[in-house]
Amino acid sequence: MAKHAAAARPRLSAHLVIAGVAAGAAVSAFQLDVSAPAPQVNAGVGLAANLSGLGGDVTPTLLLTRAPTHDEVGQLKKSMRMTEQREAEAEARRKAAYEAEQARKIKVFAPTAGTITSNYGPRWGTTHYGLDIANRIGTPIRSTMDGVVLEAGPASGFGLWIRVRHTDGTTAIYGHINSCSVREGQRVSAGQVIAEMGNRGISTGSHLHFELWDQAGRKLDPLAWLQGKGVQLG
Ligand SMILES: [Zn+2]
Repeated sequence: MAKHAAAARPRLSAHLVIAGVAAGAAVSAFQLDVSAPAPQVNAGVGLAANLSGLGGDVTPTLLLTRAPTHDEVGQLKKSMRMTEQREAEAEARRKAAYEAEQARKIKVFAPTAGTITSNYGPRWGTTHYGLDIANRIGTPIRSTMDGVVLEAGPASGFGLWIRVRHTDGTTAIYGHINSCSVREGQRVSAGQVIAEMGNRGISTGSHLHFELWDQAGRKLDPLAWLQGKGVQLG
């Protein structure tokens, strides 16, 4: 039992010392003495190990000479809880930074180059669910993200279209295309040319009609989605 008690005490004191150092305050909860007898020397070794493990430059030359009082134990436990809370907060910040970095690594490309002639929103008494980008017939159209081709062929109104399910669950639609260079079931990578711009279907000039659907099939604002991923159109 005595051995266990000696092992437990330095862990508590290490937390107190660290809390005191972090706050720039004097460590006053214990009277500490370098001329302690053998059991306290062992406790000091434990304290040294704890401190060196934290990479600080604290020199643990002070040793406990008595058991902590009830109030001191309460103060120690509070210090330990605060330390644990700070560690948990630091861990949460590291996790959030890592996830943000991973999100940035997902490659997203502009679907094509040209002039934006119509955006997502109300148009001519109805809703235009896509982003129209105009350029000459034959302008390359690229998959905005990695994904799988769900459909590549004729479609009412769109003339000829391609639908690509992205790895994040969204689906992109490329309408009015002149020709397509992929087939259903094919894997495509972000930036890969999948089609040429055209003027097929209900269209008043060569352009790409680009739509983006979420996993539930809701139509998103493609321009806002692209800009949110740092993609510039032009
Ligand atoms: Zn359109």
